Order: sequence, then structure tokens, then C-alpha cells
Amino acid sequence: MLGLMQSHPLLISNLIEFAARHHGDGEIVSRRTEGDLHRYTWKDVAARSRQVANALDASGLAAGDRVGTLAWNGYRHLELYFGVSGSERVLHTINPRLLPEQIAWIVSHAEDRIVCFDTTFLPIIKGVHAHCPNVQQWIMLCDADKLPGDTGIPNLVSYEAWMGQQPSTYAWPVFDENTASSMCYTSGTTGNPKAALYSHRSTVLHAYAAALPDVMNLSARDAVLPVVPMFHVNAWGIPYSAALTGAKLVFPGGALDGKSVYELIEGEGVTMAAGVPTVWQMLLTHMQANQLKFSTLTRTVIGGSACPPAMIHAFQDNYNVEVLHAWGMTEMSPLGTLCTLKEKHRKLAPEEQMKLRLKQGRAICGVDMKIVGDDGQELAWDGATAGDLYVRGPWVVASYFKGEGGDPLKGGWFPTGDVATIDADGFMQITDRSKDVIKSGGEWISSIDIENIAMAHPAVAMAACVGMPHPKWDERPIVVVSLKPGAELTRDELLQFYEGKVAKWQTPDDVVFVDAIPLGATGKMLKTKIRQQLSDYKLPAA
Ligand code: ADP
Repeated sequence: MLGLMQSHPLLISNLIEFAARHHGDGEIVSRRTEGDLHRYTWKDVAARSRQVANALDASGLAAGDRVGTLAWNGYRHLELYFGVSGSERVLHTINPRLLPEQIAWIVSHAEDRIVCFDTTFLPIIKGVHAHCPNVQQWIMLCDADKLPGDTGIPNLVSYEAWMGQQPSTYAWPVFDENTASSMCYTSGTTGNPKAALYSHRSTVLHAYAAALPDVMNLSARDAVLPVVPMFHVNAWGIPYSAALTGAKLVFPGGALDGKSVYELIEGEGVTMAAGVPTVWQMLLTHMQANQLKFSTLTRTVIGGSACPPAMIHAFQDNYNVEVLHAWGMTEMSPLGTLCTLKEKHRKLAPEEQMKLRLKQGRAICGVDMKIVGDDGQELAWDGATAGDLYVRGPWVVASYFKGEGGDPLKGGWFPTGDVATIDADGFMQITDRSKDVIKSGGEWISSIDIENIAMAHPAVAMAACVGMPHPKWDERPIVVVSLKPGAELTRDELLQFYEGKVAKWQTPDDVVFVDAIPLGATGKMLKTKIRQQLSDYKLPAA
């Protein structure tokens, strides 16, 4: 028997119209590439998104056609989020930190018909446009009078000239909620990048889930700063969740240094900020150096790679800001888990609470997870047994765009490539990427644990633990370390720092000091590159 409730598809256009109607005067503040702050309201976002939709019609784009963006977090990018998807086209966010060859490859693979880009990325577009014959129109996100004349890029217009004269009324089409809304390519550390193709349904469900109290806890009383980029996995869905809750949005543009981010937080009364650990490290360093405090920030969501304990401590102990550790991936829209404590945990001693906060957290309702052993059998949720983490749910990929890489599922579950434990309360903890696991003498050593200890040392800026081949133990861990500016540390001092923190056999065999740890396009340590750099390295004799 079918239910007798109205059947309205879950569409992204509903989110922006809701925000315009119910939070019309809610603010959106953006730091522009020009350096100044731009401000307007949810009502304006809706009006200009409709202008974008009209401009796409005028450009002759059909339903399902892809529109690429290479852009920072800012108001024009937000308008494209709603205007492109709302009018049944597909928003293809492109990570500008990828290599030009990769950008050209994914623009061609996605068959983008239009590509919109921030002024900052003009040099990239100059280099790649000739390799992207599928693009009929290049749009620079700027005022008409800011468009440079002699770029050599054919069919280049300014965003304002393209959409500015269009009417701000538009009848958003109503269609199947399973229609594609946006896409994002994974970083492709192995082989060509593959794209997750999100749907309106998956995006709207994810937006509701992300706003929940035990997730990002978003409301109309919040001012949210997504430092996490809109060019990768939809800025963790924050633009949609902000529209759904009427939260104020504060966009940092390309200014991600500690000073700029701090000034934005203070100047705009930001209550919640979200980003990867590397960005927060820059902010904390700036604050420590200048003895600054926060006056409005209550929480930060930190994810994308493991949040070092020292960072959770710094936010909590020095600034009274709660860190919510989050885990997810491109293939999951991206949120899978978030670490908030339960009522019973509040009675625990601070150090016990900290052990829990370090975990990646509990599943968000909608994400089903399990850990499995090498034999494919499900493993116990005892907080100790580690296995391959599998997930499934309405915002998890079923397959990649154009079927790339074949069927990614195993028995209906998506293997995440992460190795994790889950405890009896459902708190999941990533111990490694499966390709980074260090196997020593038949036992697993968690590279994340080893890195976290090194990063707790006051002299260490960043640490990467990798396994090196060993004749007796198969592999032994070493730790590659970059130091904070002006700091000094010897190999033996760092190795002694491990004493009492891990078992003797888990302590790294060596420390390699480097000027900087190579980072990938999403701010994560590039272990493949680190291993390449260590190709001539030999473990010290025991
Ligand atoms: P990519 O851009 O490389 O495809 P994603 O941005 O999708 O990567 O990142 C997904 C991966 O990032 C996860 O599978 C996991 O390995 C890692 N990751 C994300 N959040 C965390 C976290 N909080 N702790 C540890 N690892 C994390």
C-alpha cells in the first residue's frame, strides 16, 4: 500500500527559494579576488541564480549539460551552485590545484560546455583552453570592465556581461529528484581521476543530514565560514545546508592565510568554520604569534585528513572552541561520520573524552558502515579490531561517471579504501588508508598514530609516517618531518618523544627531516610522492 502524502521531488531549487523567502535578509559575505568584501543577501543569491538559469537557456545548454567551475568560495560560485543545478544542468566543480594536464583531461572527460573561472585562474585557462574543444564559452567571474582584452581565449566573456542583463524571474523546472545535479572528480592518485555524479536527491538529503545537531548543528543563528573549498566535494555540502537553515555564509575567497581567515572570523561574527587541518594550522600559528583570541567562534569541523590531537587541544584549551572531527570522501558527498560525544561521555575524565574526540566519529543517519577482514567477513565493533571500512547509503556513489573503473561496489557496499576500528558505541577511527598501512612482523602499525605523536612535539610542523622495506620485519615505519620556522629538533630527541606513547616495536626506526612535506590538490600529504623522494633511502642498521 502506498502512502498518501504529497510527492514533491527533492530539488536544489527548493533550497534557494526557501532561503530567499524565509531568510531573505540573511547575509552572504565574500572576500573577492579584488581584495574587498562583497555583501548581499539570500534574496539576492536567489535572484541572481535565476539570472544564471536564464543565461544558460540563452547559451543554448540542454538539460544535463555540464558547466565547469574553477573558483574560490565566493558569491558568484554560490549563484552557479543554484542556477546551474536548479535549471537541470550539472555543475562540475574543478580543483584548480590539479595539474593543467589533469584539468584539461577532466574538462574534456566531463564534456563541459561552459567553464566559469575566477580571475586568479586565468593563467591556467590560457594554458588549457586549446585542449578543451568541447567548451563553447569561457566565462571569467568578474565585472564587464575587468575582462582583459588580449587573452587569446576564444569566446571569453565576463560573468556580469553574460548574466547581468537576464531577468531575475525564472520558473525552476520540476523533474525526477534522481537527476544529476553536480559532479566532482576524485584526486586520482592512482590512474585517471573518476567522477562522483551527485543527484538532487542525494544532495538535498545530505544537506538535511549535515545540518543536524550532532553533525554541523547549523541554524539561522549561525555565521558559517566554509574554508573547505567549493571546488572540491561541494564544500562538504555547506552551501546547501546553509540555504536550508538560513545560516549566514562567509566566504574567504583565495585568502586562506592565518591573518585573513582570523580577520574574517572576527569581523563577521563567525560561529562555525570548516576546513582541513593544514588551513587551521596556519590560523593557529598566526593566533599564537599575535596572542589573539576568538570572540564568536564556538566550533570548527575538521576533516579531510586526520586531525592531530595537538590541534584539538589548541582549539579547546587555548580558545574554548570545540573541534568536531569529521570523516568522509568525494564518493560520499562527502560526509560519513562526525565526532560528537554522547551524554554518558560527559562524565568521563578529560583525557578519556579526548581519546573519543580523536576518533572520526559516529555514522550520520543515512550512512551505514561496517568493517570487514581479508576474508570479507564482518568484524567486531570492539574499538580494537581494524578492518576495511565499507559504507552504503543514499548519498554514497553507486558507480562513477561514464562507468569509469567498472563497478565500484562489493555486494552493494562501497569499499572506502580506509582501514578503521569501530567501538561498541559506534565511534569509528581511521587507522590508515589501506595503501598506507605499515605491516611489521605480521602486525599493523597505524601511520596516523605515529604522525599524531610527532605532531604533538612543539617543534614539528608536519609529519608523515611511511613504511620502508625491511629484510626481517617486511616493513618498518620511519617518520618524515618538517619543522616549524626557527625550531630545532634532532632525530634522537624525536625518537625519545615516542617513549611511553607507543609500544617499542611501533616506534619509528628513523626520522628524515625535510623542508616541506608534499601536499596534494586537496591539502593532504602525498605519500606516493614522499615514497618517491625516499627511493634511495636505506633504513639504519639495527
Ligand atoms: P580525494 O580527493 O583524494 O579523492 P577525498 O577528498 O575524497 O579524497 O578524501 C577521502 C579520504 O580522505 C578518505 O577516504 C580518508 O582516507 C581521508 N580522510 C578524510 N577525512 C579524514 C579524517 N577525518 N581522518 C583521516 N582520514 C580522513
